[in-house]
Amino acid sequence: MLRLHEYTYHRPTSLDEALGLIAEGEDVLPIAGGTDLMPNMKHRLFTPRHLVALKGIGELHGIGLADADGNAVDEDSASAAQLVVGAAETLAAVARHPLVRRIAPALAEAAAHVAGPQIRNAGTMGGNLCLDTRCTYYNQSFFWRQALGFCLKKDGDVCHVTKVGKKCVAAHSADTPPVLISLGAVVDLASAAGTRTVTVDEFFVANGEWNTVRRRDELVVRIRIPVPGPGVRTAYRKVRQRNSVDFPLLSIAAAADVAPDQAARSLSVVVSALGARPRVVTGLDRIVAGNRLRDVADAVAAQAYRQCHPLENIIVDPDWRRAMVPVYVRRALDELS
Ligand SMILES: Cc1cc2nc3c(=O)[nH]c(=O)nc-3n(C[C@H](O)[C@H](O)[C@H](O)COP(=O)(O)OP(=O)(O)OC[C@H]3O[C@@H](n4cnc5c(N)ncnc54)[C@H](O)[C@@H]3O)c2cc1C
Ligand code: SF4
Repeated sequence: MLRLHEYTYHRPTSLDEALGLIAEGEDVLPIAGGTDLMPNMKHRLFTPRHLVALKGIGELHGIGLADADGNAVDEDSASAAQLVVGAAETLAAVARHPLVRRIAPALAEAAAHVAGPQIRNAGTMGGNLCLDTRCTYYNQSFFWRQALGFCLKKDGDVCHVTKVGKKCVAAHSADTPPVLISLGAVVDLASAAGTRTVTVDEFFVANGEWNTVRRRDELVVRIRIPVPGPGVRTAYRKVRQRNSVDFPLLSIAAAADVAPDQAARSLSVVVSALGARPRVVTGLDRIVAGNRLRDVADAVAAQAYRQCHPLENIIVDPDWRRAMVPVYVRRALDELS
């Protein structure tokens, strides 16, 4: 049996109170649904002395529309410019919310494909954004990791995947961020020192040890997604071992702006679950350039394949995962077409 260590559980009721608690030191971690943090604590990957619960904080809840300045507006308002999702909203709430399904259907789809129903009822958007990276040599019990001499992400000094170098390449494994990146979403962060906003793309860095720019004293407060124009179509495709519960082995988010004559004005493709951060496929403007998506699907798929180089960071063969990249990019583009 894997037991939890002793800790104090704090239940703040306001954002200021939570930020004050988190600012108090290294030994404090925020917890939302706990669906990732609790197993990681049982594996002694994290042993905080204090947990700060986020779900009781009103400022972290709510799904609605806002104008360009962030003021809440009605659903039928002409000035609605962004869809706002509170960090403590559950994945189940995001997956079924009518506004999300209408404005960002691929986000609803991605949220609906996280784990299984019980986990989606507890797991949150903020937790999904801040999900720790995953690796065969890391998501194991203390005993298992100790037998191998640990690794540089936790307690050791060697990477068992690359064997050389000092960089962790554990996989970013969250479902919603690739879609958020493809839609140009931003994330609002707060700490006791103030607030800041970064794009979801800039939020992630290619370092599997800590793969976001979020400081340890900061909380994700909300995610804001620009309301797309009428020609924008979105898709999300996920490869996993068991469709009922598993993390992605590969995921593809795609968003295209398509003119009434079917010519694509822009295309964004984001590939994830391979490396420490989602990868935005570059060079697509040149390929798409006013063509119909189905006419350029093979070229887009080949471009994604060239840019993706998975490693043996999760259990499934990296060559097979790479071979699936063009297959799933084509499927995503088929859906957009
Ligand atoms: C069996 C199983 C299958 C899973 N499958 C998937 C899957 O297919 N896809 C997927 O994406 N995930 C999967 N997960 C992981 C997890 O359930 C989800 O990613 C979920 O969204 C995490 O949210 P949470 O609220 O439970 O996060 P928590 O576990 O509470 O927290 C996760 C991390 O985020 C931090 N955190 C949480 N909220 C905030 C915030 N607002 N600001 C700053 N930091 C914060 C915590 O400190 C912690 O480090 C799976 C988990 C399990 C156990
Ligand atoms: S990629 Fe390397 S350093 Fe990172 S968790 Fe895996 S074995 Fe450890």
